[in-house]
Parts: sequence; C-alpha cells; structure tokens
Amino acid sequence: MHEVSIALGMAEELMRIARDNQARKITHIKLKIGKMSGIVTDSLIFAFDAIKSDYPLLSSALISIEEVPLVFKCSQCGENFEEDNLSFSSCPECKSYSLKLVSGEEQHIENVEVEV
Ligand SMILES: [Zn+2]
Repeated sequence: MHEVSIALGMAEELMRIARDNQARKITHIKLKIGKMSGIVTDSLIFAFDAIKSDYPLLSSALISIEEVPLVFKCSQCGENFEEDNLSFSSCPECKSYSLKLVSGEEQHIENVEVEV
C-alpha cells in the first residue's frame, strides 16, 4: 500500500520537527492533501495509526486531514474555479481549455502541535 510509505516518510519528518522543538510528544498533526495527489485519506490515517506505535513521540498523536479541492485558473480570462471531477474540463466563463492547475496536488504537513 502506497499510503504506508507516505505515513513512514511523514513519521520521519515529524520526528525531526519534534527534535527541533525539543518536544516531549506530538499531540496533533494537520495535513493538507490535494485531490490530485492520488492519496486515499482514509488509508493514510489507517496506515499512520498502524505505524505510530513504533514512534513513542507519535503514539498519542491525533491526525486530521484537510482535503484541498482542485482549483484551476483559466489562462484566457483569469477565472479561478473549483472542479470536482478529474476529467478534463473547460473554463465556466469563456469555455477555454487553456487551464492551469492552481491547487489540488498538495501533500504536506500543514501544522503540528507538540507538548514540550
Ligand atoms: Zn476563461
């Protein structure tokens, strides 16, 4: 499962953050995951819960995920719009197909709460 390796990578990064902040433990982790990232958020939470007992600093951490919608910007008229489905779409204003993906590919740790 792809999400396990992501969870492991995240755990390593969280351990670094904990060390840098001289934290005794991490209490809450907030992630931003874009719809285009290909990550199944439920699987990621499941994978994270499965591995966190191996990391004492993380063992009681809660995880919450903010899903970032797909946002496109039209290169013709500058319109920003959200798109739910992944199939190729056109600008709702001018029908141009010249679109740039603005957000939706995120995959990062947004915020970490620690106890020092
Ligand atoms: Zn447009």
